[in-house]
Amino acid sequence: MNKKFRSFMNNRKLCKSSYVDDGRHTLWELYKRFLKLEDGWSREVIYWQKSEIGDFPVLLFKTKKKGPALWVLSGIHGEEPAGPNALYENVHLLQSLKNENIPMVFIPMCNPLGYFRNWRYPNEYRDYQKGTSVGDSEHLLFNEDYHPRRIMPACDEADQLTKAVLKNINPRPPILSMDFHEDEDSRGSNTFSYIYSQGKMGVADPIAKMVVEILSGHDVLLQTNGVTRFGDTIVDGIVNASKDGSIDELLASNVIYKNNSMILKHPAKTVIVVETPSVGVPLEKRVMAHSEIIHHLEMFFHMAHEGY
Ligand SMILES: [Zn+2]
Repeated sequence: MNKKFRSFMNNRKLCKSSYVDDGRHTLWELYKRFLKLEDGWSREVIYWQKSEIGDFPVLLFKTKKKGPALWVLSGIHGEEPAGPNALYENVHLLQSLKNENIPMVFIPMCNPLGYFRNWRYPNEYRDYQKGTSVGDSEHLLFNEDYHPRRIMPACDEADQLTKAVLKNINPRPPILSMDFHEDEDSRGSNTFSYIYSQGKMGVADPIAKMVVEILSGHDVLLQTNGVTRFGDTIVDGIVNASKDGSIDELLASNVIYKNNSMILKHPAKTVIVVETPSVGVPLEKRVMAHSEIIHHLEMFFHMAHEGY
């Protein structure tokens, strides 16, 4: 890694001020652990998040092996620490997936500045009307009139993250993408969540159904039916919010908007967004639920690869 990254890692003062009140590991512990992925991997800083408190690097790891791949993303929202912390606990499993010759792309902390401050967005604590998501992909996705939903990327991070994703799709096309989140809707009195399945099978995806089973087995309370606050239908704890403008929609999409035209793109077969309620459940328990999903990634990958 370059000099700027090394001096970031040596910044003790910044290191000590990382948010830890909910029991999450510090940002530095996460970086140190993920950097253990060396043998058989290449890694790069895909962008620096700039802020008045410092610049934060976003790392992308990929196996040297190419081909139909497993993609793992987490940390898009900074106040959702269970995914990054479960990946921290289970880095050895990613290493063993690599040893099984499974091609992978791994972006464990898409919004390190948010994680560091416990802010949902890089520019905003929680307010979704003011905040810009690092995963926003609307500048590449179409509305019903075949125009992009947004003229410009929502923020610099969204521009850089979507570029990194598109650059890595051809050598390692995702057949399974797992994006670890927690549920913002759970704040306040609602302690129920649901997962998203944006691949071609939507709510009927067998991997999505198994993820629901795993979460239920960990006492994660799921809303099994009805509608989300965005009006999407929930079927057995699974939502297919196919038009939410997220990086997950981008991964699942078979077309994108680029240079004023529609370009075909490899659509990921199964795209899951894992969610756990983040209020009323200790972080340790949420991490255990996410960890069990990580333990199933090898099986899920083979399911996606061998067909359903
Ligand atoms: Zn989230």
